[in-house]
Amino acid sequence: MDYDIAIIGAGPAGLSFALSLRQSGLKVAVIEKQPRALLASPPYDGREIALTHLSKKLMTQHGSWQQLGPENIHQLNAASVLNGHSDYQLYFDAPPGNDEPLGYLVSNQQIRRSVFAAFAASHAATLIDDVSVTRVQTEKSGGYLTLSDGRTVSASLIVAADTRFSEARRQMGIASDFNDYGRSALLCVMEHEKPHNHTALECFLYGGTLAVLPLSEYTSSIVITVNSAQVSNLLNMDEVTFSQEVSTRAGLRLGNMKQCGERYHYPLVGVHARRFYSQRFALIGDAAVGMHPVTAHGFNLGLSGQDLLASEILKAREKQQPIWSNTVLQAYQAKHMPNTRLLYHGTNTVVGLFTDDRLPARLLRNAVLRVSNHLPPLKQAIRQKLMNKKHPSLRLL
Ligand SMILES: Cc1cc2nc3c(=O)[nH]c(=O)nc-3n(C[C@H](O)[C@H](O)[C@H](O)COP(=O)(O)OP(=O)(O)OC[C@H]3O[C@@H](n4cnc5c(N)ncnc54)[C@H](O)[C@@H]3O)c2cc1C
Repeated sequence: MDYDIAIIGAGPAGLSFALSLRQSGLKVAVIEKQPRALLASPPYDGREIALTHLSKKLMTQHGSWQQLGPENIHQLNAASVLNGHSDYQLYFDAPPGNDEPLGYLVSNQQIRRSVFAAFAASHAATLIDDVSVTRVQTEKSGGYLTLSDGRTVSASLIVAADTRFSEARRQMGIASDFNDYGRSALLCVMEHEKPHNHTALECFLYGGTLAVLPLSEYTSSIVITVNSAQVSNLLNMDEVTFSQEVSTRAGLRLGNMKQCGERYHYPLVGVHARRFYSQRFALIGDAAVGMHPVTAHGFNLGLSGQDLLASEILKAREKQQPIWSNTVLQAYQAKHMPNTRLLYHGTNTVVGLFTDDRLPARLLRNAVLRVSNHLPPLKQAIRQKLMNKKHPSLRLL
């Protein structure tokens, strides 16, 4: 075999996985279709990613958190959820006596840049860049990849981190639950008159949702989710009209807002693979579970999943057992599947309820917010999800 492990995709999940294995002595390759220069210096893509404390811990262990620079890390101290035109809000912040924030906001650009910088400094794996994997095949004897330039790569284990539209997953015959929400997210950085006090707003408006994510004091990233047919209206508005539109949607809570960056848009699709492994093959990152962004779990799950798989591999290596065996891969799935399945379907339920503008749903939404506000265990569970530094120990499925 050329390698012990071949990772398809040098996105943040694939590179973090290589970093988790950096001291294992395993021979690892990462194959990526983008050139190295673009990985080292990725463009801004509009995404501001909400990171949990567990994600911060894992990135710190990898050395990628240290590469971010404090100016690129924004604290998230509290969050408010609003329904329709009502001022009633579900509000939660860090528990009293805790001097840590609820979570952190970091742009996807900075995450990609810092993870790549840590990877490049670590010599964790060989990077085969500027070339795509076109064929994935595994047999009892090993895993085999064909690259777009005709080269072949063999490895004892293949790990796919090749986006939520994973071609490797499809070629390996792993079925997935796929959800096209029929909606698109429009993202943009805005300046505003009033300070945000590091509080995120999630406004479930009628006809679309608006999230306001706090960055530097008078700047926030906004995410508007609308029916895909309506997104071109927002994209085509001139800057003044767009700024007024966003200020109005935010109920002037931050005063007048002004567009200060480009607008980006993403069609929203979610995917959850029914299995996370097959013979000598495993899925991590968005290739395993690609979430709707409303609950901000995507990359957080990607980071925890790669850590769970790496831990199982390291355990097997310590016991001098094969790192590619079904026992190892099954143990990874048993730890990662229950949590992701619950969050994937739970998020889809939230999306379904909070994007249904019919009267019964509007009333139910109001009731959900009021009940949740008076349910300390629920608020505690949400806080814990953000602030816990350990993997959840869920064993439901
Ligand atoms: C609007 C939006 C908001 C989001 N907000 C949040 C948030 O608040 N919190 C959060 O945790 N997550 C969030 N996410 C999700 C987060 O961005 C993703 O989970 C994360 O970027 C996925 O990382 P990845 O490495 O799995 O995949 P990707 O970043 O998609 O990387 C995959 C890599 O594989 C490469 N590749 C693909 N196919 C091949 C091939 N055949 N051969 C070689 N290379 C290949 C690609 O070039 C790419 O570099 C959001 C997503 C969106 C769209």
